[in-house]
Amino acid sequence: MEYFLFKFNCVFNIYQRTAMKNLLAVFIMLWSSFVALQAQVYPIKTKADYKELATLTDFAKMKELIFVNNQPRPEVFLYFALLQGMAKDKLPAWVALSVAKQSVGLNFVPKCKICESTKMAFSHYATYANAKRKDNNAYPNLTAKEADLRHKDIATLTEKYTSELLVLLKFTDDETYKLQELLVVMRKQRMAGLPEKFGSKGCPSCDGATHHKD
Ligand SMILES: [Zn+2]
Repeated sequence: MEYFLFKFNCVFNIYQRTAMKNLLAVFIMLWSSFVALQAQVYPIKTKADYKELATLTDFAKMKELIFVNNQPRPEVFLYFALLQGMAKDKLPAWVALSVAKQSVGLNFVPKCKICESTKMAFSHYATYANAKRKDNNAYPNLTAKEADLRHKDIATLTEKYTSELLVLLKFTDDETYKLQELLVVMRKQRMAGLPEKFGSKGCPSCDGATHHKD
């Protein structure tokens, strides 16, 4: 009997170890595909990447990065629009950091793809841009304590920067329509999930990106 128990334990241990190894392998695989996917959408990982992409004037190349199979990827479009706009306006890095830090639930809606993209742009800009200006004249309310004031500036800035990139990239009417259609769907999907005590009736990034007015 003892021998059988011993055997059983050995077999069970081997089984357990193999199962753990398999689980770990699956986890590593999922994690690396998630990281690879993130890098495809938000490609800036170093200061050199930032220099190349945030101030990229080769708009044909940027369009190639945004479109996949002739379909615009709204999250990539937003990411570039925000980065380009902030770089052009020389938004101080500390302001961008303040917006990104008050992230989910305060400035951005949880699990909202438009918000995620906007937040990534603020965060990457704060990390990689060499923007040491002290004054914050362009968007003074981005760092306001009052949520509704911050949100208004985030919406205005998102609307301005996305409109500017559409013009720079020379989107055709058809491409603009496709992009707007996708953005409107994304906004609607997440509007239901506004956090309690968010401070605004709408999502600032989503309203800005879709030019939504109450
Ligand atoms: Zn949103």
